[in-house]
Amino acid sequence: MAPWGEQTTAVVIGAGHAGLAASHFLSAWSIDHVVLERGDVANSWRRERWDSLRLLTPNWQSRLPGAGYDGPDPDGYMTAGEVIELIERFAKASRAPVRTGVNVTSLRRADGGYRVATSDGDIGCRAVVIASGACNRPTVPSAADAVPETVAQLTPFGYRNPAQLPEGGVLVVGASATGVQLAAEIRRSGRPVTLSVGEHVRLPRAYRGRDVLWWMDRSGVWDQRHDELDDLTRARKLPSPQLVGTPERMTLDLNALAGLGVELVGRLQMVRDGRALFSGGLKNVFSLADLKMNRLLDTFDEWAATRGGDEEVAPPERFAPTRVPESPRWQLDLTRGEIRSIVWATGFRPDYGWLDVPVLDAKGQLRHEGGVVDSPGLYALGLPVLRRRKSTFICGIEDDAREVIDHLARAL
Ligand SMILES: Cc1cc2nc3c(=O)[nH]c(=O)nc-3n(C[C@H](O)[C@H](O)[C@H](O)COP(=O)(O)OP(=O)(O)OC[C@H]3O[C@@H](n4cnc5c(N)ncnc54)[C@H](O)[C@@H]3O)c2cc1C
Repeated sequence: MAPWGEQTTAVVIGAGHAGLAASHFLSAWSIDHVVLERGDVANSWRRERWDSLRLLTPNWQSRLPGAGYDGPDPDGYMTAGEVIELIERFAKASRAPVRTGVNVTSLRRADGGYRVATSDGDIGCRAVVIASGACNRPTVPSAADAVPETVAQLTPFGYRNPAQLPEGGVLVVGASATGVQLAAEIRRSGRPVTLSVGEHVRLPRAYRGRDVLWWMDRSGVWDQRHDELDDLTRARKLPSPQLVGTPERMTLDLNALAGLGVELVGRLQMVRDGRALFSGGLKNVFSLADLKMNRLLDTFDEWAATRGGDEEVAPPERFAPTRVPESPRWQLDLTRGEIRSIVWATGFRPDYGWLDVPVLDAKGQLRHEGGVVDSPGLYALGLPVLRRRKSTFICGIEDDAREVIDHLARAL
């Protein structure tokens, strides 16, 4: 027995879908392992999502290794509760050796392998798969520190529903999937909403009669590999697309939000003397997003034309450009009571506070090549464009986990 107690071959950190997929393939290789989870299986879907959240990916894409969607509504979008059930079912079916309520407090090199310190004792192992999530903490810009105390501030982790917000105006900062979804929901609750928009990814919900993610999947765009992309660093930083999963399959772009009465302003630059200051140039930001969307639609059209299935889908279409507000405000006085709360929808980041192996770059991101971390026997799953564009999505885990665990097994 090792001096620190329990020994196993591999430790997986995190029992979200990524950690469970790792476990599935480790079992297929008959590699003994444990999955350590600080909360419950699917913890982030239980604790870190707002009430109305539905997946923006359709049900047929909610597939995990060996488990495709077989319910009655393949084109619908799961609620967070349904995602928890999906992940729990997968954990049971794959008999994943999950230990819940076990927090990993430190991971360090030891004896040619790793020593994992946990709230329940230490474990020695030869390999570790970090599947602790890419979105453990909301990213909040430093401007938040200068917001007057009279304005309530929330992140998507604290936000549950509009009733929680004080009456009055709300500034939502960030126009990726989270920002547009929260702005729409809060606006519908009757509150005036201002949305601060920086670089964003515009997508229609449906294109040529099919869900836009059907196109991403079938055309091969989502399968583009990390080592084939021109600018991997940029691809990894792309904001999530402006999409929402609703029974009506609505498109939730900036035109739709403006139609709901959401006021659009530029990217938040700073908060000074109680005023939020926004950059100009909305026109350019909108044109760029429109241009990129149209390029993507061109790619879909080319794919449909060349593979010869053009007749299975509706004819090509293009969407109205994003309408630029006539004179967007460039500042908002936060001391006057017009804005009573700010929701920071400015992205998420991983938390590696427990990682005592020197594998983080200057920006705090893991140094890895397709999930093979820069330390022997250390692997990662579930990070943006880990091996493919679809890596952080549920449907992306099977291919990534298979390849990463193949590498781990061969290295052992
Ligand atoms: C708001 C939001 C909406 C999303 N919508 C979609 C969608 O529509 N479709 C889609 O396909 N994807 C979506 N995603 C992306 C992705 O599916 C989720 O982020 C998913 O939760 C990632 O799974 P994961 O297993 O990589 O990480 P997580 O689900 O975050 O799991 C990581 C697990 O590790 C545990 N953990 C972390 N640190 C420790 C530690 N030190 N010790 C022990 N355990 C630890 C956590 O408790 C957690 O359970 C969304 C993400 C977000 C944030």
